[in-house]
Amino acid sequence: MMTLTRFAGWPVIAGAGLAGLSAALHLDRPCVVLSPTPLGEEAASMLAQGGLAAAIGHDDDVALHIRDTLAAGDGLCDRRAVEAIIGAGPSAIETLLDWGVAFNRKGSSSLDLHLEAAHSRARIAHVRGDGSGAGIMQALIAQVKSLPRIVVLDGVTLEHIHAVEGRVRGVWLNTGQFIPTNTCILACGGAGALYAGATSPNSNTGRGLAAAARAGAQLADMEFVQFHPTALDVETGGARSPLISEAVRGAGAVLIDETGTRFTDELQSRDRVSRAIARHRLEGHRVFLDARSGKTGKGLKQIFSRQFPGIALSCRQHGIDPDREPIPVRPAVHYHMGGVATDLHGRASLAGLWACGEVACTGLHGANRLASNSLLEAFVMGRAVAWDVNNGPRERHSCQDPSRPARLGAASFGQQMDKGAGILRDQDGLEALATYLTPLADRDDHALVGAAIASAALRRRESRGSHWRVDCQGATEAERFHFTLKDIGLQERSIVYA
Ligand SMILES: Cc1cc2nc3c(=O)[nH]c(=O)nc-3n(C[C@H](O)[C@H](O)[C@H](O)COP(=O)(O)OP(=O)(O)OC[C@H]3O[C@@H](n4cnc5c(N)ncnc54)[C@H](O)[C@@H]3O)c2cc1C
Repeated sequence: MMTLTRFAGWPVIAGAGLAGLSAALHLDRPCVVLSPTPLGEEAASMLAQGGLAAAIGHDDDVALHIRDTLAAGDGLCDRRAVEAIIGAGPSAIETLLDWGVAFNRKGSSSLDLHLEAAHSRARIAHVRGDGSGAGIMQALIAQVKSLPRIVVLDGVTLEHIHAVEGRVRGVWLNTGQFIPTNTCILACGGAGALYAGATSPNSNTGRGLAAAARAGAQLADMEFVQFHPTALDVETGGARSPLISEAVRGAGAVLIDETGTRFTDELQSRDRVSRAIARHRLEGHRVFLDARSGKTGKGLKQIFSRQFPGIALSCRQHGIDPDREPIPVRPAVHYHMGGVATDLHGRASLAGLWACGEVACTGLHGANRLASNSLLEAFVMGRAVAWDVNNGPRERHSCQDPSRPARLGAASFGQQMDKGAGILRDQDGLEALATYLTPLADRDDHALVGAAIASAALRRRESRGSHWRVDCQGATEAERFHFTLKDIGLQERSIVYA
């Protein structure tokens, strides 16, 4: 049967990372969660090494965390979003503790909080060393499994959002089935894997974002793609690039090239270090992270595997012993600040559509995300969406079986994305990318998202945050770009019916 009548009218949550599970757990009614893989696999949330930022330390204050977030965002944060989401940090930690997340503690009392680059206070809560994301997710997965009202459909993804007269009426799945519903919650994660070099899981290619855009939802800040300076530079056979956390540089590891020469200050902000490495590689060098000696003089050698067990394991799986040799690294796409534009309830511009987590753009991150704010945002906004849905009207559902849309392509444009909309951008490269992808966007989701990134990056004729135009230095345009596909010449509602 094409229509899944059993779930008619239920909220449908697309994506089972931290944002999707937070939404499901905070809803007060039965819901369906779509997950491409068994719960917990293939979500960026599982991979988070750093942790979750919240102003809970005795020397910290929400106002300081807000100030750091605004500084990282380089003039483009939405102040109201920053205040709301950062302000919810302490209560998020409380709920996660209640749900059984075993944050590391100092002795038996307060949480052991860590300092990260661009945070003025130690405020990053960790679980099990560098396994924070997995630790948080495992606790939430256990909660989800204990609640029969949450139905998880494994191996199922959202393909299309069926909208009639500006309102969601249902969703089409990759199985060819249709769920009639007035409530679609997008929690599909970022679009990093559109690029050839990315730390994100392979399934995070922005297909949910494409579905929202095709249904007419507004996008925002699409040009802002954050690169992490140090992904492991090894042949991955198409798999994601393992990440070497900033904490390794924080603990004293230094960046060198193949001659053993240092060429930049490792402790600058993420985007500056990424650009320094990108330029050095363009000059023909290879880049390594040398974790054999720490600045303390004690060396990292004896402590690397203990302090960074997950990273040490990733290195060893690729034949690298970080205790004895420098680790080859390169920048890789790590986070997308842009996404489906939402308000502080997570509402998109299309009625009946909510978005939370990395697929959404609340304006919290502005032009650059402050490290460890994204797990916080995913949890807080998942909760905000659920509260909004809980308080909204329960409309009766009345959608007939609509015509089934044609399947859309998802071709690989990683090399073109790296070249045209990478760390160092210019007009020629962006134009070439947009010209290549735009004609394909009607029938291919990856082309659509890539074209939207290129189009927004072309429009931003300045360098700000993670968006670096080598042909337009300096920041001149403190304005955020919100747009629909129609606004950028990609046809709105470009769904082709079979
Ligand atoms: C290696 C790595 C380390 C990181 N470290 C940190 C950190 O220390 N602190 C921090 O704050 N942030 C960190 N981040 C960022 C953070 O992990 C993510 O931004 C956050 O987890 C996003 O949560 P999410 O629920 O929105 O998305 P995800 O956790 O990615 O979950 C989205 C899910 O949706 C699925 N999906 C995709 N398309 C569809 C579809 N069409 N239908 C249904 N499902 C779909 C995906 O497969 C995935 O399972 C890190 C990211 C990476 C990649």
